[in-house]
Amino acid sequence: QKPAQAAEEVSGGTKLGLDVKKDDDFSRWYQQVLTRSEMLDYYDISGCYIIRPWAYHVWQTIQEYFDAKIKTMRVKNCYFPMFVSARALEQEKDHIEGFAPEVAWVTKAGSSDLEEPIAIRPTSETVMYPYFSKWIRSHRDLPLRLNQWCSVVRWEFKNPQPFLRTREFLWQEGHCAYINKEGADTEARRILTYYKAVYEYLLAVPMIDGIKSEKEKFAGGLYTTTIEGFIPSTGRGIQAGTSHNLGQSFSKMFNVVVEDPNSPSNSGNEPAKLNVWQTSWGLSTRTIGVMVMVHGDDKGLVMPPRVSEIQVIVIPTGLTVKHSASDRQTIYKACSDLVSRLIEAGIRAEDDLRENYTPGFKYNHWELKGVPIRLEIGPKDLDKNSALSVRRDTFAKSSLSLDNIETTISELLEQIQNDMFAKATKDRDAGLKLVLDWDDFVTALNNKCICLIPWCNTTDCEDQIKDRSSRAELGDEPQDEKAPSMGAKSLCIPFDQPTNPPIEQGVTKCIQCGNLATVYGLFGRSY
Ligand code: AMP
Repeated sequence: QKPAQAAEEVSGGTKLGLDVKKDDDFSRWYQQVLTRSEMLDYYDISGCYIIRPWAYHVWQTIQEYFDAKIKTMRVKNCYFPMFVSARALEQEKDHIEGFAPEVAWVTKAGSSDLEEPIAIRPTSETVMYPYFSKWIRSHRDLPLRLNQWCSVVRWEFKNPQPFLRTREFLWQEGHCAYINKEGADTEARRILTYYKAVYEYLLAVPMIDGIKSEKEKFAGGLYTTTIEGFIPSTGRGIQAGTSHNLGQSFSKMFNVVVEDPNSPSNSGNEPAKLNVWQTSWGLSTRTIGVMVMVHGDDKGLVMPPRVSEIQVIVIPTGLTVKHSASDRQTIYKACSDLVSRLIEAGIRAEDDLRENYTPGFKYNHWELKGVPIRLEIGPKDLDKNSALSVRRDTFAKSSLSLDNIETTISELLEQIQNDMFAKATKDRDAGLKLVLDWDDFVTALNNKCICLIPWCNTTDCEDQIKDRSSRAELGDEPQDEKAPSMGAKSLCIPFDQPTNPPIEQGVTKCIQCGNLATVYGLFGRSY
């Protein structure tokens, strides 16, 4: 993002509509959609963005939904400081190796240097676990299940992208401790189902769930489960949420131990100590970016009804100079009465009665913001006791009777939500290929697909796949400047493995190295 371009986007907030098509220049389209719909604004520190109310509502809806889910697991919310000492941060070796390049440090207070620099949390394992050690004294203190809603800072050097990759981002991070591996396994998976539901149920974006390869797993953890999304316009995968079983490595480093409840109490020996098993899991404001990229179109955002701050916008129409002031008032009152009825029925509705704007201007405005349903009411509609509805996702119009309109609209919102998910799933499926040899793999990647491939599941081979599939290596310079040149990464090993054809253990070969394949791996260029 060049400053001049950013400045243009900032001033672009006042313009109506987009002047770039999604298929023509996706990254400019994305910036314009976000700024002009008033979801986000640029800030004078690179990689940091302002989340405006239109987007923040989406985040709050996700918070409410997910918070209610984790409460059913008896997770408790809390808050730890954003600062972490170098000593604590560096306690888990693999962990700090993974995060060190992105950690931001506070080195000064006013004009004086701090005695010891203090880090800003990139995630809070090392902030919290010294206190797990203090608080967990007995197996009766387990499981301990904590979560915090906060922001973290990762000073990323990859190209920043609003919502997808930002230097400060909002998220929740859950941290739990269990007596055994089974407890950690079960609950890590349960969290992943909630993450999947956030995307699929709320945001209408399909996900593939699976396990990360050794190379891609969370630094310092035992294994990482993940949900992976797909952006059809760029053909790139995106890690959408992760839930880790940390095993016992952190509990060893931070000395989080309990007495083994099974060790005999009358043997005279000290009871054996058990290191607890831990999980951590995080979902960020990346959710919003994925939703925008998947559903948006050339007119702007397309908001899934469940997360849209306004689900129905009611606009007076058909008024001309021939109409009297009282005709006008009749129509305005019909609009606001309708809004009241819809609100009463639990539908998030508003009217737009601004007099200095034409109906056409208002249509564009609310289309840009992606409001799921527009209702138009004019004198003719009122005569027929009806309103004209226009769907944002399909632009389909229908005349709706004002009798029972609450029910009709509720059903229509439900229909839109389901149709958006069905369309996004169809588009994702069209970009998901099962390939059985290397040449087809490369062709599919270049056709903006992600691929399921028979794979040996080794890190060496994964590195080779990345190298061999980068465009430079292929001698295939992209015609489109902005096409990603990077090689394909492993996105996950899906839980739901293809069965046609199945991997035959001892027979099926890895398509890259020719050694035996053990799994189908999902690979793709990615964010
Ligand atoms: P991690 O702690 O690395 O497993 O990250 C947890 C989740 O946060 C990931 O699944 C991403 O969806 C999200 N995430 C990671 N880095 C960023 C970033 N720089 N900006 C926004 N979201 C991020």
